[in-house]
Formats: sequence, structure tokens, C-alpha cells
Amino acid sequence: MTLHQNLIAGEWVGGDGVANINPSNTNDVVGEYARATADDAKAGIAAAKAAFPAWSRSGILERHAILKKTADEIMARKDELGRLLSREEGKTLAEGIGETVRAGQIFEFFAGECLRLAGEVIPSVRPNIGVEITREPVGVVGIITPWNFPIAIPAWKIAPALAYGNTVVFKPAELVPGCSWAIVDILHRAGLPKGVLNLVMGKGSVVGQAMLDSPDVQAITFTGSVGTGKRVAMASVEHNRKFQLEMGGKNPFVVLDDADLSVAVEAAVNSAFFSTGQRCTASSRIIVTEGIHDKFVAAMGERMQGLVVDDALKPGTQIGPVVDQSQLNQDTDYIAIGKQEGAKLAFGGELITRDTPGFYLQPALFTEAHNQMRIAREEVFGPVAAVIRVKDYEEALAVANDTPFGLSSGIATTSLKHATHFKRNAEAGMVMVNLPTAGVDFHVPFGGRKGSSYGPREQGKYAAEFYTTVKTAYTLA
Ligand code: NAD
Repeated sequence: MTLHQNLIAGEWVGGDGVANINPSNTNDVVGEYARATADDAKAGIAAAKAAFPAWSRSGILERHAILKKTADEIMARKDELGRLLSREEGKTLAEGIGETVRAGQIFEFFAGECLRLAGEVIPSVRPNIGVEITREPVGVVGIITPWNFPIAIPAWKIAPALAYGNTVVFKPAELVPGCSWAIVDILHRAGLPKGVLNLVMGKGSVVGQAMLDSPDVQAITFTGSVGTGKRVAMASVEHNRKFQLEMGGKNPFVVLDDADLSVAVEAAVNSAFFSTGQRCTASSRIIVTEGIHDKFVAAMGERMQGLVVDDALKPGTQIGPVVDQSQLNQDTDYIAIGKQEGAKLAFGGELITRDTPGFYLQPALFTEAHNQMRIAREEVFGPVAAVIRVKDYEEALAVANDTPFGLSSGIATTSLKHATHFKRNAEAGMVMVNLPTAGVDFHVPFGGRKGSSYGPREQGKYAAEFYTTVKTAYTLA
């Protein structure tokens, strides 16, 4: 089997191979991927540092052309790359292709941003002086990504980093190196100069840590768990470096008495269980007012019975497997914790077998839960959700906001008054009305509040906040 190597200073370099395993069928090896060492990470950082002066002053047309070419190739290969994604991560083929298309759209968007980066010219408060405000690249950007969006998250970090003239050291999650390797290969062939983008696949504690410890990394953009995010923050403060964190969620989805029941059920099932519940924007707290509660729970049960959980690549599958054994253990531990805490396991929650050995779990719905239970406070990151019964809208909003997290918050209602109030008062970076808590556009800001995020927003033109630094120049006329 071919070894997919790391890219350092424009050269593919070796290392011990690690098997990338398909969670739908653990007998299927997706590929062998080299594992970088701390020295490889240091070499990648040195290469990015050396490449920065030229790349940061390169013409915007060159950057535009490379990103556009990358977008075009991703789009042309969307079925193949989407299949690779589903094979290595376990989300369904439709979800894998959808995420791949999104990665292509992100590269296309930032190809355009290369040509749109503007500054400001304003008069000084002093006579005969002009003031110019411009944006410059930050320097070497370290990119550290999680396993649950193997192509979209690398795309939404790499594309703006390069568009605004930074050089990059990129460490993807150990579980899903395939899509990351593929987009780095595409960018490399699209004509990126040596050292502008370096790929170091490997362990967080080794390769990621070497990035955190390097004084030559001027900015780190991180998406992953709260625990690792805190390490990134501490190390970055130590080095006085810019950092951005996107972390966990415990996103509420409120269902009011006046909701359209079918809209509410579809949005709740999507929020809680699609992509196997492994989305930072997934909803695992479904907060339902008492007038609709019993009807809603019954309709959820009916809808969940029809969900097809199977091999991610099989036509007709709606929910793929959990990503690996350790995540599956975490999910089943939380199901046991929910029962011990006194919530009622109304549907699902059992391990299931399919034609191939994989990590299959029947999506689980708890009822009779309350917001102080661990299943309502801690991120499970699997297809496990809890229904919390409340009296009215006011209590629903208070419960929705009673969480350490603040990424996405949803409501199902036909009341303009409640929808408007919720949009203004939900303590989250993103609010969804009659829509799932997950599923966002690629051209507008993405991010959260409270324990979910730190630093400027990602995506859309707001990405410039993180990937550039502002300069104010004064000139005597
Ligand atoms: P994780 O924190 O375990 O790993 C994330 C990345 O950090 C991986 O690449 C890992 O190798 C690396 N890492 C681990 N230890 C490190 C260290 N000491 N130094 C540097 N890097 C290190 O997270 P995960 O399990 O891959 O992802 C799941 C988490 O990601 C969930 O909490 C989920 O909510 C979150 N997530 C958040 C968003 C968002 O935008 N808010 C999006 C997707 C996922």
C-alpha cells in the first residue's frame, strides 16, 4: 500500500506508516499515512518561516489562481473525495460529498477574497497628514484540526491563511489524515511555492505540542476539545502569539407549544443524530414546553424507528457509525450515566451489528431529563440526546442559556414574538429558527461564545480578523 507522506519545504518526506481504518468496516484500511515527529514539525515551521517573506509579498493574482485551481479540482473530484471522507470518518456518503463541496466553495470564496482585501484612507485629526489603515499577514500560522469535519475545517483554515499571505504548518487529526493529505496534494500541485504549506500528520502530544512550543509560530488556529484548547491558549499566551479556539458545544434546541410539529421533529432529529451526532453544533438538549411535550416525544420515537443506521457508504444509510472504539465507549458511558442519573432511555442506545465489523450505535433519546444532569451539561459528541420538559418560553430560554457553552442555539416556533426575542437573547454565536442547530453557510461568520470559542470568528470576510494584522501609517503631505 502506498505511504502518504508529509510535505515539508515542498518535498514529500517519509516516516513510519500508520493505518487509517474505516469505522464502518474495521477490516478496511483506507491507506497508510506517515507519522511525523517533533523534528518534522520543527522542520515544517522552519520552512514556513523561510517562505514567509516572499509569499507575504506575492501578487494577489498568484494567490487567487492557486486557490481557484484548488477549488476547481476539489469540485471536479467531489464524489471521489466525498467517498474518501465517508470511508475514513463514517459520515454518510451524501454528507461526505456535501462537506467536500463546501470545502470547494470555501476555496472559491477565499480565492475571491485575495482580490478584495481593502484598507482605509482617512484624514488625520492633524492638518496635512494622511492616515492609511492596511491589513498585513500575521506570519507562520499553525493549523490544528479535529476529526469530525475532515475536509471542511482544514479548508476553512488553510484557505484564508494562504489568501491573506501567511505561510502554514498544518496538523490534521490522527484519525482522518486522508482528506487533509488530499487537499495539501491539490494545493501543492496547484503551484504553491516550497514551504508555504507544510503538512505534518501525527500525534497531538508530539507534533501539535511542538507547534505550541515554537516561538516561530505567530498564530495558531485550533478546533477541537476544550481540554486541548486550553493547552493551546496557555502556550500561546506564553509566546505572546495570536490564537483562535473553536471548541465544544451543548447546544439547546427549544420546541414551543406553537411549533409546527413536523418542522420541530425534523430539525431535532437532524440536530441530534445526523453525522452520528458528532458535530460541535449538534443539539443534545431538546427543551420542550409542556403543551407539546408528549406529542413531540411520540413523534420523535416514530421518526427514530425509521432511521437507517448502517455502513456510511451504503446507499440509503442515514446515520453512519461512530468514529472509533474510544468515542463509542464515551457514548455508551454517557448512556449509562443518563440512566443512573434517573433520566428515562425512551428510544435506542443499544450497540448494533451490521454486515461488516464497525462501531454502530442506535441513536438514543432520553426523556424526563433535567438540565443539571451530566448528560445535559457535558458534551457527549455522539448520537445521544435528552428531552427536558419546561413550563413555558421563559423557562425554556433560561434553561437553553444555562450551560457553560455557547456555540449554536435553535428554536421551533410559529410565533414571531418568541422567535425575535430568542434571536436577541440566546447566549450563542449562532441562532437557528425552525432549522437544525447544525448546518451553516460558508460565506458568513462561524463561531460561538462562552466556553465554546475564543478569539475572532472564522469564515466569510470576518476571517480577516484572525489571519491579518492591522497597520496604521501616517504621512505628512
Ligand atoms: P481533540 O482536542 O482531541 O483534538 C483536536 C486536535 O488537537 C487534534 O489534531 C489533536 O491531535 C490535537 N492535539 C491533541 N493534543 C494536543 C497537544 N498537546 N498540542 C497540540 N495539539 C494537540 O479534539 P477531537 O476529539 O479531535 O475533536 C472533537 C472536539 O472538537 C469536540 O469537542 C468538538 O465539539 C470540537 N469541535 C468544535 C468545532 C467548533 O467549531 N466549535 C468544530 C468541530 C469540532
